[in-house]
Amino acid sequence: LKTTLSDLEIANKVAMKPIAEIAEAANIPEEALEQYGKYKAKIDHTKIPQNLEGKVVLVTATSPTPAGEGKSTVTVGLSDALRQLDQNVMVALREPSLGPVMGIKGGATGGGYAQVVPMQDINLHFTGDLHAITTANNALSALIDNHIHQGNELGIDPRRILWKRVLDMNDRSLRKVLIGLGGPTQGVPREDGFDITVASEIMAILCLATSLENLKERLSRIVIGYTYEKKPVYVKDLGVEGALTLLLKDAFKPNLVQTIEGTPALIHGGPFANIAHGCNSIMATQTARKLADIVVTEAGFGADLGAEKFMNIKARQGGFAPDAVVVVTTIRALKMHGGVAKNELSSENVAALKNGIPNLEKHIDSIRQFGIEPIIALNRFISDTENELEAIISWAHQNGIRIARTNVWEEGGKGGLELANHVLEVLGQPKSFTHLYETSDPVEKKIEAIVQRIYGGNGVQFTDKAKKQIYQIEQFGWDDLPICMAKTQYSLSDNPNELGRPENFTVTVREVIPKLGAGFLVCLTGEIMTMPGLPKKPAALKMDVAEDGSALGLF
Ligand code: ADP
Repeated sequence: LKTTLSDLEIANKVAMKPIAEIAEAANIPEEALEQYGKYKAKIDHTKIPQNLEGKVVLVTATSPTPAGEGKSTVTVGLSDALRQLDQNVMVALREPSLGPVMGIKGGATGGGYAQVVPMQDINLHFTGDLHAITTANNALSALIDNHIHQGNELGIDPRRILWKRVLDMNDRSLRKVLIGLGGPTQGVPREDGFDITVASEIMAILCLATSLENLKERLSRIVIGYTYEKKPVYVKDLGVEGALTLLLKDAFKPNLVQTIEGTPALIHGGPFANIAHGCNSIMATQTARKLADIVVTEAGFGADLGAEKFMNIKARQGGFAPDAVVVVTTIRALKMHGGVAKNELSSENVAALKNGIPNLEKHIDSIRQFGIEPIIALNRFISDTENELEAIISWAHQNGIRIARTNVWEEGGKGGLELANHVLEVLGQPKSFTHLYETSDPVEKKIEAIVQRIYGGNGVQFTDKAKKQIYQIEQFGWDDLPICMAKTQYSLSDNPNELGRPENFTVTVREVIPKLGAGFLVCLTGEIMTMPGLPKKPAALKMDVAEDGSALGLF
């Protein structure tokens, strides 16, 4: 059976086309192509034709479970299916972070016969974007500490510095560190900490900037901390936005690769979806829209996180709206939401499946809040039974919701044709996108709109600290920004143990942090951490290199 091969084994067997061929077929002029080896390239978006304005298909999912939903897999498979139907299509995805790759979640290149390649490159160092982002971030840290060491002309209060160092790794021991120890020549001692690169504001900025100039402007707006007089200190006060932009100029260009079936794919930027906004760059989506009639793209985790932020942050800042939304779910995940333990997911259990459907129902409802009628993609696993498939399909039909079985993991694009046909029908209809809130609404009201209408909660509780921060944000005039919720991905509520569709809950906002460069206000809820740790048995334990230099055990 062909599906007994690992994702890496399948990816390694692919006869990839040279990237120049993929670019030519995608109408990318030679002068816009900057090759990184044979199978990867960066695209200079200023040198591509500007005549198209492709439609955007957003792929999201039900609340993730350890059973896995397969969003990236369906995103890739759907684009291959659309290409099989002779559509001019491109797929836009996020770049994987080495934290999850070495840790537990795995890569982000799809799975089975619906993958982007070269899979091992994309999952490891790719074209170095994450290194550039890490370096720019830490250059700013070094410049801040040097400013303080050299006399601190701006009067930066070392106890009130918001800017942290970053590393693209899960490393819990770096969450809180003391720096500058060792006497007068070693800098000024202060408390600092590390976040994971994909949680950094620079990653969010790279993903939301609409031009190199806009990138620089956003970098200049970053608030790095406060003075002894409690006045904000911006990057522009340090005068280093030019240097930071220089460090990011190549990372800012989208990366071109291909799917197993040769569909062009742009992979660019990868902010986490639980602590940042969770979508690939606006640059990649907009570049793809200039080159293709249809762009299939993904937002991280469930529709409560990735899709909500796609609509309220990315689409708003990019000046576009999705034309169709696909909600991926699996029978296994719904059974987990219905109370089945992970090790019993392979046995048929229609009753538990029905108990889990309310989670899907809420995510469908959430997409409808934006005026969009979603399509369910039922990502088939080998263990699904006909009775289970029948139960969910008839539930969807009874409720007038489009649903398609997808089997792209096993069959590639062919397994996504039913879904692709639904997508084409939806794209042919007029759209009626509406925003969930206006950025000019009061901060509390914007957060309430998300909690009540997307999570299904009763309301929001603000800690005293959060209230004080909101007051300050208003005083500084920073309140006219969208909200970026930091919340557990496992539950619609802020308690990761409440699966399914929790009701009668409130969400506690413990901090509200201004990210002026990114252009949003981060609301911290629950125990969300900006630097994850590695699990007891990290994925790294299975990895190795073969004699010929190729990767082993990378999923
Ligand atoms: P997500 O984007 O939701 O995190 P991915 O698409 O990355 O999920 O898939 C996670 C893992 O699950 C991958 O290793 C992939 O090969 C596997 N997977 C996805 N869909 C299926 C399926 N239908 N059958 C078996 N494995 C699958």
